[in-house]
Amino acid sequence: MEISANTQAIAYLISAILFILALKGLTHPASARRGNYLGMAGMAIAILATLFSQEVQSYGFILVGVIAGAVIGTVLAARVQMTAMPQLVAALHSFVGMAAVLVAIGTYLNHDAAGTLNPVMMGELSAGIIIGAITFSGSVVAFAKLQGLVSGAPVKFKGQHALNAAIAITTVLLGVHFGMTGSMTSLVLITLLSFVLGFTLIIPIGGADMPVIISMLNSYSGWAAAATGFTLGNLLLIIVGALVGFSGAILSFIMCRAMNRSIINVVFGGFGSESDGAPSAVGVAAEKGVKSASVEDAIYWMEDANKVIIVPGYGMAVAQAQHALKEVLELLEERDVTVKFAIHPVAGRMPGHMNVLLAEADIPYDHVLEMDEINPEFPTSDVTLVVGANDVVNPAARSDSSSPIYGMPILDAAKSKQVYFLKRSMNPGYSGVDNLLFYQDNTSLIFGDAKDTIEGMVTALKGGGH
Ligand code: NDP
Repeated sequence: MEISANTQAIAYLISAILFILALKGLTHPASARRGNYLGMAGMAIAILATLFSQEVQSYGFILVGVIAGAVIGTVLAARVQMTAMPQLVAALHSFVGMAAVLVAIGTYLNHDAAGTLNPVMMGELSAGIIIGAITFSGSVVAFAKLQGLVSGAPVKFKGQHALNAAIAITTVLLGVHFGMTGSMTSLVLITLLSFVLGFTLIIPIGGADMPVIISMLNSYSGWAAAATGFTLGNLLLIIVGALVGFSGAILSFIMCRAMNRSIINVVFGGFGSESDGAPSAVGVAAEKGVKSASVEDAIYWMEDANKVIIVPGYGMAVAQAQHALKEVLELLEERDVTVKFAIHPVAGRMPGHMNVLLAEADIPYDHVLEMDEINPEFPTSDVTLVVGANDVVNPAARSDSSSPIYGMPILDAAKSKQVYFLKRSMNPGYSGVDNLLFYQDNTSLIFGDAKDTIEGMVTALKGGGH
């Protein structure tokens, strides 16, 4: 069955509208599921309209690709842990980047053989290759860092920005040369230098700044897809690429603001949080010792509290403690305790990670507050329960100018009357820095898996507490 070009254009238009509605749906946890369904419907229509178009010459390779992709995708999606999502996303971005590079090279070879290359096309091809290759190698580095295959620490050296600038300028000049001459050597050099640039742009970024990079690579992958759309003359790919490119860019901007980082620094690799050599407060604090507490200690204060604030973090995702937390919420509310959840924009390992998990546990949205809304409430909270969070409440971000998280806004848990950390050890969080809040007088640590600890709290609350 073949459809006409007009029918295909209408199908693409419907897909594009569905993708826009999907993005709208994904802006709130309550409508996110619907957004996903709309996106899936849009993609199904897009794939069918492409498969039945007049341009398809044979289905053999397509079928092999679809089956292989579907099997790999299904196995990966079914097996991936929520906590490994960022790596999976980084890996998927790298595929988009590589696809853009391969499509551009394939198109070049076809048109070169047919003698139909022209400057506009070669401009498009070099743009596709540059964006695609940077996206590919940048995403591979991000994947390796997030997966722990290489150190997550920033790799910095003297002259890094100058080197990046030199590679970028050379690549653009080669792009111009390629556009004018169609030289195969220039094309190969552009490809290689762009791979190197993706690598050198991402290695200086580490620790707590990775979320911004993930959303930025997301944006790059959109532009790579749009470039492929131009190469293939596929309108829908251009629209979808631009949607992903812009939404990723907006997300990067929001994340930068949340992390108090400059978008310019992100785009050009490396952040502005350079150490100024001031003495570290961590060493001083370390001598003060840390208090540990039991579940019963915490329950003693929580039962009689007016307000309890819960700060979820990456450890809640690891422990899958959100359902048990819902029970704590209900049991405390039965005792007229006000319970609120405080969400830091980079808590967990991907944007919106905590919102997704709390929504999964049916925790009402009106109990879940963003950083700006909840911060003024910490001074009036009796107990703050930090459930597997660490960096997002670390006062070193404010006071220790030698810390890699210096300058990042934090949740004001330190201002609560009592602070209980639920974690398994004295290990630091993602950024690798010690938490000054551990050493504050009103802070205690309850060691253990967060889910076990929270379930212990549920049992204690059900049993009447102290
Ligand atoms: P952190 O990584 O700072 O801390 C997580 C804490 O969870 C650790 O202290 C760990 O301590 C504890 N933990 C781990 N497993 C368990 C468990 N089973 N039970 C109890 N505790 C556990 O997390 P935050 O959410 O506070 O901060 C997120 C960090 O990740 C930030 O630095 C952010 O920049 C970075 N990041 C965020 C991304 C995003 O998009 N949101 C993406 C990539 C990085 P212990 O081992 O002792 O149990």
